Amino acid sequence: MQASAAESTEIGAAPLQSSDVAGLQAVLARLGELTKELELAVPPRLVAVSKTKPVEQLKVVYDAGQRDFGENYAQELMEKAGLMPSDVRWRFIGPLQSNKARSLVASVPGLACVETVNSTKLAGKLDAACKAVGRDAPLDIMLQVNTSGEASKSGLAPGDDVVALAQHVSSACPRLRIVGVMTIGAPGDNSAFNVLVQCRKQVAVALGLDADQLELSMGMSGDFEAAVRHGSTSVRVGSTIFGARDYGTKA
Ligand SMILES: *Cc1c(COP(=O)(O)O)cnc(C)c1O
Repeated sequence: MQASAAESTEIGAAPLQSSDVAGLQAVLARLGELTKELELAVPPRLVAVSKTKPVEQLKVVYDAGQRDFGENYAQELMEKAGLMPSDVRWRFIGPLQSNKARSLVASVPGLACVETVNSTKLAGKLDAACKAVGRDAPLDIMLQVNTSGEASKSGLAPGDDVVALAQHVSSACPRLRIVGVMTIGAPGDNSAFNVLVQCRKQVAVALGLDADQLELSMGMSGDFEAAVRHGSTSVRVGSTIFGARDYGTKA
């Protein structure tokens, strides 16, 4: 009896890990096909969204070659960053309280991008944090746009608010570099993608850039293919790689 219990634990553990890799490879394969079909110069970036998932699962997909990871909670990201290899490129994709900006920048040297900048206050705190910790390279940020108008979603209203924040960051936050715009959007409503494309145009004009010098972070497990067809350069995929999330177990 004991032997078979041990056996079934082992058997139970193996598919969990290989299914993460299978999920990763399936998404990468699909992105590869879309890259060909749409004749893209570069494949969209795949950000593996690992919120609530244990570091063991992140390591499995890291070992399969994945380097871009997205996290939503500052505390969780800081803990995981200390446990994962230093060449992970961390992307913060959750609501960030201004008072967490300093510790996030200080304790995650591999912080590649904060995708959810949505106020002058947060931009200011991030800029000050970069100065305080003596970060060499500018910190890449994206402006988060609430494309669906839902009160439950954070982000700037499309249009003037986004442009105003872009102008503020470029004139008052020398340690931040705007690399794109990001949205979550309402599931099943592809109009969010068109709204974000429009926002990117406006931000590009405001910054004196071509639109294609700015990224579009849009698309998740349920709609990343549609997002890429609308021009997404960075998709954020969680559950298709790591399985469904259980918020009940989150510490
Ligand atoms: C959780 C999350 C994702 C990933 O969602 P899935 O549907 O699991 O792929 C992407 N973007 C943001 C901002 C998220 O919070």
